[in-house]
Amino acid sequence: MRTLFIAGNWKMNPGTAEAAISLAEAVKAGVGASADVRVALCPPAVFLNRIDHVLEGSPIGLGGQNMYWKPEGAFTGETSGAMLVDAGCTHVILGHSERRHGMGETDAQVNAKLHAALAVQLIPIVCIGETKDERLADQTEDVLQGQLTGSLAGLSSEQMAGVVLAYEPVWAIGTGLTATPEQAQNAHAFIRGWLSEQFGPATAARVVVQYGGSVKPDNAAELLACPDIDGALVGGASLKAADFLGIINAARDVTAKGKA
Ligand code: PEP
Repeated sequence: MRTLFIAGNWKMNPGTAEAAISLAEAVKAGVGASADVRVALCPPAVFLNRIDHVLEGSPIGLGGQNMYWKPEGAFTGETSGAMLVDAGCTHVILGHSERRHGMGETDAQVNAKLHAALAVQLIPIVCIGETKDERLADQTEDVLQGQLTGSLAGLSSEQMAGVVLAYEPVWAIGTGLTATPEQAQNAHAFIRGWLSEQFGPATAARVVVQYGGSVKPDNAAELLACPDIDGALVGGASLKAADFLGIINAARDVTAKGKA
């Protein structure tokens, strides 16, 4: 069984460094020293350095929510992978649907960022997922295949094994709607099948594929128990320490029991 990985995407929250620090402190205290489940926090870029200090001595990873593909230069408002590493990051979210759909980010741009992230040893969390219209038009697998092909182009099998994917149906993000475990498992099985065709079964078996879309403490266990769901990328529920820790504890229970 792949080690379950729970990551919190704080998006543009909370409003102050003080609130961000207390949230990180509470998560750190709840997680303790145990590494049976991988955990990462992805705060806004301006808080990264301070959260890195809070997380000192903890197994919790730190992630950026985005980065630029160029290493330095005249790119106003952008942040390079090396800058994220310097701020203490181990991870970076790439191609989140709010960037793809809200800011026009393309698969080619996600791919450029992915190669730049790997070049500085950041663990990328690459997000893919269909919109509600695409699901209703029965295009989910075509959309996933297009995003996988474009976003992951040019990776070796060894590089692929170290990339985390997050299947996030756009219609389930921040809406309170969650994919049923069956819908999510079907999409994850499709993704793993595609990985197996492109990179071979041994690599496909190593890739961690998170689910994201209104994951909460009360629905986490049944999603995480699905054979191809290896964790969660959590938005709203990662802003309350008790909820985020509830999801981590659900992952711990699934880990202790094992999957079928
Ligand atoms: C996300 O932003 O990646 C996400 C899954 O958000 P939420 O959990 O709020 O749906």
